[in-house]
Amino acid sequence: MRISIVSVAAVFDMATAAVTATGLFQIIICFFLISKASNYRYPKNDVQLGVIVDANKESANILKAMRFVMNAKKDLSIGHSDIKFNANTQTPMINNSFDLMAAMCKHMSEKVYTIFGMSTPCSMDTLRSFSRQFQMPYVSIGTPLKSNHPNSNMEPPFELFIRPRYSEAIVELIRHYGWKNVYYIHDTRVDGILRAEQLIESLSEEMVTVHFDMIYARDGSDAHDQISTIDTTKSEDQRVIMLDMSKDNANELFNNLYTDAKRLKFHFLVVELGIVELNFTEKAAGGLKVTGFQMLGAPSVVSLYGDGKFTSSNDINTTINKYLRFIDEEVADFKNYHQYFTHDVALTIDALMVMKKAWKALLSRKADIDDYKDSQNIQCDKSNRKWKKGPEVMNALKRVRIKNGLTGNIAFDDNGYRKDFVLLLFEVAFSKGLTQFGYWTPKVKTKNGKTRGGLGIRQPDEKERNLYQSAIKDTRIRSNKKIRKVTSILTAPYLMENKSTNATGNDRFEGYCKDLADKVSEILKFEYEIVPVPDGQYGKLLDNGTWTGMMGELVSNRADLAIAPLTITAVREEVVDFSKPFQSLGISIMIKKPSNEKPGVFSFMYPLSSEIWMCVIFAYIGVSVVLFLVSRFSPFEWKVEDSNEGPTVTNNFTIFNSLWFSLGAFMQQGCDIEPRSISGRIVGSVWWFFTLIIISSYTANLAAFLTVQRMKAPIESADDLAKQTEIKYGTIDSGTTKEFFRTSTIPTYERMWSFMSSQKPSVFVKGNEEGIRRVRNENGRYAFLIESTINDYINQREPCDTMKVGESLDSKGYGIATPLGSDMRDQITLAVLQLRENNELPALQKRWWYEKGDNCDKESSKTKQDTTNALKLLNVAGIFYILIGGLILAITMAVLEFFYRAKVESKKRKISFSDAIRLKVRMSMKGGSEIEAHTVQEVPSSSTKYRTYSFE
Ligand code: ASP
Repeated sequence: MRISIVSVAAVFDMATAAVTATGLFQIIICFFLISKASNYRYPKNDVQLGVIVDANKESANILKAMRFVMNAKKDLSIGHSDIKFNANTQTPMINNSFDLMAAMCKHMSEKVYTIFGMSTPCSMDTLRSFSRQFQMPYVSIGTPLKSNHPNSNMEPPFELFIRPRYSEAIVELIRHYGWKNVYYIHDTRVDGILRAEQLIESLSEEMVTVHFDMIYARDGSDAHDQISTIDTTKSEDQRVIMLDMSKDNANELFNNLYTDAKRLKFHFLVVELGIVELNFTEKAAGGLKVTGFQMLGAPSVVSLYGDGKFTSSNDINTTINKYLRFIDEEVADFKNYHQYFTHDVALTIDALMVMKKAWKALLSRKADIDDYKDSQNIQCDKSNRKWKKGPEVMNALKRVRIKNGLTGNIAFDDNGYRKDFVLLLFEVAFSKGLTQFGYWTPKVKTKNGKTRGGLGIRQPDEKERNLYQSAIKDTRIRSNKKIRKVTSILTAPYLMENKSTNATGNDRFEGYCKDLADKVSEILKFEYEIVPVPDGQYGKLLDNGTWTGMMGELVSNRADLAIAPLTITAVREEVVDFSKPFQSLGISIMIKKPSNEKPGVFSFMYPLSSEIWMCVIFAYIGVSVVLFLVSRFSPFEWKVEDSNEGPTVTNNFTIFNSLWFSLGAFMQQGCDIEPRSISGRIVGSVWWFFTLIIISSYTANLAAFLTVQRMKAPIESADDLAKQTEIKYGTIDSGTTKEFFRTSTIPTYERMWSFMSSQKPSVFVKGNEEGIRRVRNENGRYAFLIESTINDYINQREPCDTMKVGESLDSKGYGIATPLGSDMRDQITLAVLQLRENNELPALQKRWWYEKGDNCDKESSKTKQDTTNALKLLNVAGIFYILIGGLILAITMAVLEFFYRAKVESKKRKISFSDAIRLKVRMSMKGGSEIEAHTVQEVPSSSTKYRTYSFE
């Protein structure tokens, strides 16, 4: 038996080639072949089949699948039948009506009994009118669309669609997700619009309102460009993209989106069947959210509703294996069979099976195929001629039932559409990869009046798990073996370059994160490679929706893990997965350590503040004046004294004596004059009391102030920073610390943010190292807001000139991050918990913070010890200075008085000044016994006579 798929065009090609190439001999052979083909008498059970395919990649798959069925030694899945097809293939431009009509006419004139082929929404009406006109059954593999033709419901249909209609499934999904706005991206100008139109019709029948934005894209990268212009600030139900594109274009689009953070903003719905055929295994890890349909290997409706046995996929496996062997592809990885065994292939095989079964039924009743031969000679131009047997063949086709087709249960309704089929709903979700999440079946009324079917969101149970799940699992296991790229950031003590020159591989680095990566990889048994992030940043979200730094590396899947001091935040958690924290921390302030104050020579003044000293001086003067006044007015302070010149009235409390008395009291010394009046005594006692308290307080403080070197930090909290503008302060430019201030609503932090953001030159730094350098070099004029862990570490390092001040401003943690949906996510968290429970994390912290630190604490305690032991001369030098100053003053006064008296004496005695000095010197040398005489001189005053003694 001969099976030929010979297109007329191909025969012509052969003929022309033969003429040009090999001359007459070949021409004779060609003629022989052509005449052979046209005169061939078909055996009894040979069914003439007309095939119409477009010239594209899918057609190649369809033709391969046909050849597979026709070559099969034994019929597939429906048991043995002796029906054989003679297929004649036409490859018109399907969307060109003239081309298509010509192809169909050609088939009809060539004695075909059925036409099998593609159809598009555009060509639907042409196909319909032809098949109905001539009653020629057309088994289509294309998308079934309802006809818009006015007469289409009047004539009985002659089209049979092997591909199901499932616009209701899309409607139900739209309702399920609550979508309000959909971007419908299509790569066929008219077909896409017609398909969307049908969908919109179904939506309006179901009273679901959705706004459609139609986008035509030439190919995947064009679609990507168009997606980048979509506003992503809308709510989630408005960010939906329906993809009506060829597999190649869809794959190209997802490839482009793979490194674009914008993809995370959309929910994609792949409109065509066969989501598993898209290349998702890696993209699933990229956090794409895609929903789609799958039919290959679907269970039967009966088994789905629990009243039948689940169809095992073994038959399908056998068919797939046979097919792969047949097409002889180098399918190294059987799990990737989806690339070859597509839905088009499965539907083609199912369609041929349907046709075989129909002809088997027909021929089992009518013994001879010749009865159908009157299909021959139907001429397109004689339009009144119909194929009488057409309705019989069409009915036989519609009556076919195949329980275990490749695309599930196969059955048709009166209009030639599939019924009782099951669609599997698949989802590429953030963390789960590609998984089945439900079913959809067309709604039908059951015998007991209930409605069955619709959307069923439920995971397939153990029995139902089919090839796809295991395929995905296998890919994951394989991918575990690859070397993981670990992004990190060079910042001490987390990751530093290893100084030793001969280190290679990951040993080029050292630090807490290197050790942590070693431990985690040891637990999870994976190999890794540390790659410091190229831009040296932690990661911030830019206005265009992309991330910088380590976050960018993860979001765009350039890295598999980030093991670094990367802070866990809500915004980041949306685009990457974090493990449980491996370290806790908070934002803290780092300042330059204030230099130890040298004890001043006047440090005895420190116990009392300068204000108190001022107040004491004023109090002293005030008390002395009051004492002077009350003594003046009090009669008890006046006394009468006898003298040679008669009795005189005197008062001890002159202004100078009052000052002397107060000073004596203040210095805790006595004085030879005391107040006698009550008022004077009251003044005296309150002053003594005041003095008592002040002096005791002074004494109590004195020791401490003289012995402890004071280290006074100019800033002690965030409030201190916020209150002043002299000391600048800033953060890392692309990290969570900056974000903390930018988004804070606490007044102090808001004030700090507006200060920081307005500073020129900028107070923001690229990395911690730059910030620490600024703290050290700017002489206390720059404070750095840095995470407490790094702050603590730096404060333990030479030159020990930085310190942490104040409490932490917040509290958070560092986590190991993986791209969304990474297969390592859960295992990493478990590993971190295990390390924490085994005390390995605290040990690592101890190792890098304290054991490797420079022990700055020791240094400062050493200096403290030195200073607390004994007072140094320097501590008390001031009082010596005062003593010496006082003595010098006293001597100077004495000298001045000496000269003054000498001058007076020389005038009085009318001797020269030098004689007077000599006299005085002699007297001073010889002492008081030499006093020759004394006179009392009375100096007139307002109320008192003062006596002065003069020595002669
Ligand atoms: N660890 C921080 C981050 O992950 C860096 C910082 O802001 O200090 O962004």
